[in-house]
Amino acid sequence: MIHYSYPLYRPPAEADNIIIQATYGCSYNNCSFCSMYKDKKYQVRDINDIFKEIDILASHYPNANKVFLADGDVLGLNAEYLIQLLKYLKQAFIKLTRVSTYASAQNILSKTQEELELLYKNNLTLIYFGIESGNDVILKKITKGVTSNQIIDALNKASLSGMKISATVILGIGGVQYSNEHTRDTAKVINATTINYLSTLQLVIEQGAKENFYKYFTDFTPLRGSHLIAEQKNFIELLNPINKIIFRSNHVSNALHLSGVIPKDKGMLLREIELALDRGELEYE
Ligand code: SF4
Repeated sequence: MIHYSYPLYRPPAEADNIIIQATYGCSYNNCSFCSMYKDKKYQVRDINDIFKEIDILASHYPNANKVFLADGDVLGLNAEYLIQLLKYLKQAFIKLTRVSTYASAQNILSKTQEELELLYKNNLTLIYFGIESGNDVILKKITKGVTSNQIIDALNKASLSGMKISATVILGIGGVQYSNEHTRDTAKVINATTINYLSTLQLVIEQGAKENFYKYFTDFTPLRGSHLIAEQKNFIELLNPINKIIFRSNHVSNALHLSGVIPKDKGMLLREIELALDRGELEYE
């Protein structure tokens, strides 16, 4: 039996895949808007305990081909530990094609290019990365711990290793005051990188994070309803990526669900947003 340590988070795309907790919690655990691991002490697990769990899972799901490594930022583990884990996964799941994990700019920048390439060669081929915003004032106010330039460097470093990147941006994270700066600078980050997947979420600050969030973002005024969708429209208008990006806005937090490929479907996405704004369906709160 596998005894997961809860809460356990994984991206929606990993719903049908094997999940293995290599760490408990998040080593940074300091983004002011995030309450995911606030009550969980960060811990690196004994690798032998993980091997035992892999054996159990492999005996139940011998044909599994995708594995997600949880919790918050497994890429923060040292490369030697990760390579051991990836090699063990490969021999246990003989049909393994992909291992994925959450990653932060700090994690990626702490690895050498050679280490990232070695991880990629050992099947760590997809990372989930929270950009949140590309504006430095907002990044400071949400205590993300990195600058927009560091985000660009980290994303390009991961891409260069061969890893595919699924990135998220949070609509409304700059509030009313910084909406224009948020869309302008976040699009600049996307346009300076070669991410493969992009999702927009709408800001939801859980009760447990509210006090911390407002402590650092003292002038925050929430952006609501159609204004959030207008922000999304401004953001998409500014996207001119180097490569093709599969775009989704289908998280449960999104008032308007969208999907397409940018730049090919940019016009279609903008028309869908305009129609929704014209219909006035998005006024709430
Ligand atoms: S957003 Fe990610 S990096 Fe930041 S505290 Fe939450 S889990 Fe950790």
